[in-house]
Amino acid sequence: MKVFVVAEHKDGKLKRVSAEVVAEFGRQGQEVTALVLGSGDLNAITGDLAKAGASKIIVLEHADLKDYSTEGYANAAHAYLSSQGAEVIASGGQGKDFMPRLAAKFGVGVANDCTSFGLASGKLTVRRPVFAGKCSKSVEFLKSPAMFTLRPNVVSSEGKTAAGTVERVAATPGAIRTKVAEVIASAAKKVELTEADIIISGGRSLKSADNFKILHECAAVVGAAVGASRAAVDAGYAPHAMQVGQTGKTVSPKLYIACGISGAIQHLAGMRTSKVIVAINKDAEAPIFQKADYGIVGDLFEVVPLLTAELKKLKG
Ligand SMILES: Cc1cc2nc3c(=O)[nH]c(=O)nc-3n(C[C@H](O)[C@H](O)[C@H](O)COP(=O)(O)OP(=O)(O)OC[C@H]3O[C@@H](n4cnc5c(N)ncnc54)[C@H](O)[C@@H]3O)c2cc1C
Repeated sequence: MKVFVVAEHKDGKLKRVSAEVVAEFGRQGQEVTALVLGSGDLNAITGDLAKAGASKIIVLEHADLKDYSTEGYANAAHAYLSSQGAEVIASGGQGKDFMPRLAAKFGVGVANDCTSFGLASGKLTVRRPVFAGKCSKSVEFLKSPAMFTLRPNVVSSEGKTAAGTVERVAATPGAIRTKVAEVIASAAKKVELTEADIIISGGRSLKSADNFKILHECAAVVGAAVGASRAAVDAGYAPHAMQVGQTGKTVSPKLYIACGISGAIQHLAGMRTSKVIVAINKDAEAPIFQKADYGIVGDLFEVVPLLTAELKKLKG
């Protein structure tokens, strides 16, 4: 099958989810051509794609692709891929933005935020959560190209290094009607929530923005990202960028520690695919314990500082 993965990158670095998609195709014995859209020095990105297992890497170059834009990506990717007879087109988290537009250009559908995919007898099947993660469905594609995006962190990014032959092609991004005027980065260099291996999240029970510092202290010891429930965000204790759940971010870390979070279905929708879930809650009947692998019934203001101290000892 002719499989293409549209790579995601930022600040000259490949996003891990792109390596995850490429590596997973490799584990399934499928050759992959990766597409890198952009301009300037993209060598670190192409190198990482080869390490993940991309046999061929097409760099679609154009000055207008220096910054990501939905239109630029969709136009340039369509112009190239339609000439290549692509049968499968996959991408990661950013694909949730440009893949629907690209799919419309091909006149096909797209399955977003999939948690697994498989190729058998020349057919692609994906699995994706529905109804806020209450159940998941298996999706087959009736038209070619089959298009899907993979949720970050659901498969390993460790691939078998492939040739990764790089070919540079002049891209045709067409008319881009919006442009990035300014990027305002947050002051602190924080671990990106959707890519973090460990997330420690706090709920309404934190009671103030200031109290979130106990979570940040704990997170700093293990290089974790800090998340929040919507109740905490609505109360102004944390910015929306930190919200996990149905109307926030969907995360799938190796370890998710929920501190004083009740476990409402809308919160679970954003974190239920985490590999290991630990809940700290003073109510032994809190619904989060039904989803947790490990539970600590206790006051988070006592448990979290103890956890931080123990982790420091372990790290020390
Ligand atoms: C359309 C829609 C979309 C939504 N989207 C989201 C979303 O994206 N993300 C999200 O999180 N929610 C979302 N919600 C809200 C969701 O329904 C819950 O209201 C919210 O998740 C509750 O947040 P919480 O667990 O922090 O607060 P609460 O439900 O108030 O729970 C607080 C918990 O903390 C425990 N607690 C209190 N004090 C302590 C302490 N000192 N130590 C330990 N435990 C303590 C309590 O026992 C309780 O279990 C959405 C709701 C709707 C209707």
